[in-house]
Amino acid sequence: MKIVLLGAPGAGKGTVAKLLSELDGSVQISTGDILRAAVKGGSDPGKKAKGYMDSGDLVPDSLIMEIMEVRLQEDDCDKGFLLDGFPRTIPQAEALGELLGRMGIGLDFVASLEVPRDVILDRLTTRRTCSNSACQEIYNIKSNPPAPDGTCKKCGRPVIQRDDETEEAILNRLETYNEKTAPLIGYYRGKGLLRNFVSLSSKDTVEEIKKSLKG
Ligand code: AMP
Repeated sequence: MKIVLLGAPGAGKGTVAKLLSELDGSVQISTGDILRAAVKGGSDPGKKAKGYMDSGDLVPDSLIMEIMEVRLQEDDCDKGFLLDGFPRTIPQAEALGELLGRMGIGLDFVASLEVPRDVILDRLTTRRTCSNSACQEIYNIKSNPPAPDGTCKKCGRPVIQRDDETEEAILNRLETYNEKTAPLIGYYRGKGLLRNFVSLSSKDTVEEIKKSLKG
């Protein structure tokens, strides 16, 4: 499958992408994960991205497109891909359209995950992430806590609150989403590619997306 997952931070794009990728081997591509690994590795793109990320701002389109031009042409994309957190601006969506056009690839659709703002705020402030960049398992201190000693149940490394998950950064990320990313809903609707999913449970959303792929 070739799907773009669109939605506010905390809408569940990562969880839905992970579940979908398990169905047919389509690869989950999260620009947020790629950038966090680059920051941790201390590479040039990582150094450029860190300040924007910590304050909840978007990384410049040019840097994202440099990364995605390479990533989308890697062999594991042949089976399909789930784009999680990309595109996030109209220029990125236009550049993605051009790139896929050059590669002769069409998207199945763009899945817009709709979640009420209070649910999103609650999810983001209670979310914790495994600090191991190769794992990045997501926890929730209320509904899915890490091990009692605060470590990851999968790999045993410490589970942390991300720098961009402080209340101030979260509010900025939501504002950035409304201003820069929400216009993509209209953009993709205009291209006839948009499908809406009210997404309170990731498992239900995956079932709906599966139906939509058949229909
Ligand atoms: P995420 O994990 O998707 O919430 O992304 C974390 C942070 O990485 C965002 O708040 C941005 O600073 C940056 N980021 C991720 N994807 C993009 C993108 N497509 N365009 C610009 N910045 C991005």
